[in-house]
Amino acid sequence: MNQALQQFLTDHPRLFVLTGAGCSTDSGIPDYRDRSGAWKRSKPILFQEFMQRAAVRQRYWARSFLGWIPFSQAEPGLAHFALASLEAQGRIVQLTTQNVDGLHQKAGSQQVVDLHGNLAQLVCQNCGEKESRSWMQEKIASLNPGIDQLTARPAPDGDADLKTDFSRIIVPDCPICGGILKPDVVFYGEQVPRPRIEAAYQAVR
Ligand SMILES: [Zn+2]
Repeated sequence: MNQALQQFLTDHPRLFVLTGAGCSTDSGIPDYRDRSGAWKRSKPILFQEFMQRAAVRQRYWARSFLGWIPFSQAEPGLAHFALASLEAQGRIVQLTTQNVDGLHQKAGSQQVVDLHGNLAQLVCQNCGEKESRSWMQEKIASLNPGIDQLTARPAPDGDADLKTDFSRIIVPDCPICGGILKPDVVFYGEQVPRPRIEAAYQAVR
């Protein structure tokens, strides 16, 4: 281990750790920005667009259907395991992540705040009903025969670079009320829920 980092860990036995996309790139999950912070690709979808336009949702779900397959199969990397090990040694009091991949938990970390949520869960924007992502994947496959035969390169946040006629895509609605289902993650243009921010601040204090 880097000597300066080793010394830092010795000097600070109770850590609050914040992780972001760089922690998961070695697991094959692409990030949005390069080392200088510039956007590598077109900007991600905005919450307002997702809610207001059916065409945006058709595009989102067709791409995410394909992106979910490699995303959900990703395995934790060395950084995830190292952090889980430090927690097990009692050195990390709280880990807060901006990632939505659940890889910290998969590596064994327990004190995790998913600041931006987790892609494995959906929530109805009308009634609050929760659905699992696997339910959504099965629904999309059955409503859109042949979609699972398409191929696309993985993109950040479980997205995929897919080019097809999105206007033909049928998007499942909430099975309870017919409302719009959204991944239970914080989109760009959306606020992080207050209790999650409070939990992070509390841990820092
Ligand atoms: Zn609903």
